[in-house]
Amino acid sequence: MRQIWKEGVNLWMSDRSLGVSPPPYESLNIAFHVGDKEENVKRNLALALQGAGMEKKRLFYLQQVHGTKIWEVDSSISGFPKEGDGLMTNDPNVVLLCMVADCNPIALYDPKTRALALLHAGRAGVYKKILTQAIHQMKNRYGSEALDLRVYVGPSIRGCCYEVGESIAREFEGDSSLSMAVKRREERFYLHLIAPLLEELKVLGVSEERILVDEHCSACDERFFSYRREGITGRMGLFGSLEA
Ligand SMILES: [Zn+2]
Repeated sequence: MRQIWKEGVNLWMSDRSLGVSPPPYESLNIAFHVGDKEENVKRNLALALQGAGMEKKRLFYLQQVHGTKIWEVDSSISGFPKEGDGLMTNDPNVVLLCMVADCNPIALYDPKTRALALLHAGRAGVYKKILTQAIHQMKNRYGSEALDLRVYVGPSIRGCCYEVGESIAREFEGDSSLSMAVKRREERFYLHLIAPLLEELKVLGVSEERILVDEHCSACDERFFSYRREGITGRMGLFGSLEA
């Protein structure tokens, strides 16, 4: 568990350590849907929330489906988890959680309007521009300006490891806003999704010095869960909550 932001918003990124799950979920798996024992996931979630100082707040997470649906939540809402890939709020009484094992966990925080969004952006989410959707929705709902936003992208699979087939590579190459993701090495194709995400942020008007990208590739580094490396494995969490 590592604290990323603490002023105005409390943001933590978890890794594999400090949990109770046995292999292949060792040890801090925070996702119920991956085959781990429910009691272990509950314990891990409690440990993570406690470590982040968020245990007294209401937790929201989604059944992530590689789409672009972003839900606005507050502590009075019921009926979750729903299907979607983004959560946003201006309520300091809730915790937002995004689960990943190779996909990009993204946080957007507006210190002016005090709004927070967390996004799950894998290949499909980047392709469908969930980031643009989120920034538009934060503007519509909270009046957030892209210029004010702080952005964090957590550990995710990078161009060193994310090999894809030619048809996917061609799909990305065919779109000038995505083509910079494609890396060719020895007749093989790899995607480095950080490149189009940074380009998208630039186009939207987010200033470079407010963007923090974790340097780690989840597939290279065994401190992280990686779907590509392991198949059956756990999930890491990006936990965010606004300060009161
Ligand atoms: Zn790698």
